[in-house]
Amino acid sequence: MDFETRILTGGKWIDAREGTTFLSISPADEKDLAQIASGNNEDIDAAVLAASDALGGSWSKASGWERARLLYRLAELVERDTEILAHLEAVEIGRPISEPRNVDIPSAVACLRTYAAFAERVNGKHIPGPDHFGRQLTTLVVREPIGVVAAILPWNAPTMIATWKLGPILATGCTCVLKPAEDASLAVLHLGKLILEAGYPDGVVNIVPGKGNTIGQRLVTHPLVDKVSFTGSPQVGSQIAIWCAPLFRPTTLELGGKSAQIVMSDADIESAVPGIALGIFSNQGQICAAGSRILVHGSIRERVAELLSQEARSRKLGDPLDPNTTMGSLVSKKQFDSVMRYIEVGKAEGARVLAGGEKVDRVGFFVQPTVFDNVANGATIAREEIFGPVAAIIPFDTPEEALQMANSSEYGLSANVWTGSVKHAHQIAHGLKVGTVWVNGGGTPDPRTGWGGRGKSGIGRELGEAGILSHTTEKTLYFFY
Ligand code: NAD
Repeated sequence: MDFETRILTGGKWIDAREGTTFLSISPADEKDLAQIASGNNEDIDAAVLAASDALGGSWSKASGWERARLLYRLAELVERDTEILAHLEAVEIGRPISEPRNVDIPSAVACLRTYAAFAERVNGKHIPGPDHFGRQLTTLVVREPIGVVAAILPWNAPTMIATWKLGPILATGCTCVLKPAEDASLAVLHLGKLILEAGYPDGVVNIVPGKGNTIGQRLVTHPLVDKVSFTGSPQVGSQIAIWCAPLFRPTTLELGGKSAQIVMSDADIESAVPGIALGIFSNQGQICAAGSRILVHGSIRERVAELLSQEARSRKLGDPLDPNTTMGSLVSKKQFDSVMRYIEVGKAEGARVLAGGEKVDRVGFFVQPTVFDNVANGATIAREEIFGPVAAIIPFDTPEEALQMANSSEYGLSANVWTGSVKHAHQIAHGLKVGTVWVNGGGTPDPRTGWGGRGKSGIGRELGEAGILSHTTEKTLYFFY
């Protein structure tokens, strides 16, 4: 398969100014995949300038209907290229192809269609009167595109999260520079091809792959950038907030998580456990909303632990392109080392390994899906985001205790509640200090609703109407006559 590996600036594909590249490898077999253009600060300057120029061009005159038409067209193209995008995610990240094929790419298409519908309705309001000292007054509140958006992506779900950025940017008439993650540039660059094919004016979307720690600061602090939309780690997110504060630059931060899955004593255990396993083992646990803290009522702990361990052992680890594979490799050696270190810490701190707990003896960065039992809520593996296939079972006695344990985390992205009681569902769901709660289920966010977290999980909401509001600025116009 041919990969696009260059920079997209002003509607043209170009090599990095200094001709520099970085190597992308396939983490499941450690083979070289592609040399990708590594942008430098001048490449960032050129891309931001192209985005700024595009703001004032024909794009500024595109009606809501035209922006909707283009988004519907882009959605069709993404849907058409589902197999290509799923393949690129599988080989570059190491995840089983069935996941992007059945989950991420359909979600990305849904997101683009959602924002196509929003594009037709980016409206202000009209407030009549009152008379003002004998003169009539009409007030209009209008929403204008915020401008050039610097959008920085993580590696774990590149196509889907790219559309979370592109949807509101393109619906509202903004322009952008997208910076894909070093470990997941190929699917995002393919999206660039589809953006050109859809017929977007040159410069509306620019894509600069490269090293975040060398070009990230230039991108987010560039004087022509009006908003930063970042998805990634809390460490980088807080650095970006520090850079943006003196610039008074609006910033949306979608950061990490340490989500709880609360299993009440009245849960239907047999049907809940496969869902709990999906919540922690999908994408090898490399999901911001991964439900890594399994808080289980003491009376059912043994049964849940046994079934969850069976689920872990039933995962078929292997080639991400094999349709029978249900678990692939971690994204990189760095991620593998970090996850293995956490597993060692878990063992050293006294948690009991019920399943997994070792690396897999094969080429590639494979880690066994791991279940720790009897973990204290204050243990390192219960507090810190591991971003790997590691579940920590933590027992509780009462609903109040479950809620208190779930909320005693620096993170606040999402949670799952598994229960047979409407009372428990409401009691827990309303009490959780998180952005999203799934009751008796899980999945990807519905793009018609907001997504984001509290505390160390970030600031602001993307998706839903919140995405439209955060990509527009409100202006009030008073007309006296
Ligand atoms: P990361 O913070 O290392 O990198 C994210 C992006 O930031 C990459 O594109 C990287 O190149 C760039 N970057 C790195 N240093 C930078 C700098 N100094 N300035 C500007 N940009 C810089 O995160 P990651 O490892 O790619 O992703 C994993 C993290 O992302 C996890 O914490 C995960 O929970 C989080 N995440 C959150 C969500 C969400 O919606 N809340 C979704 C996916 C991932």
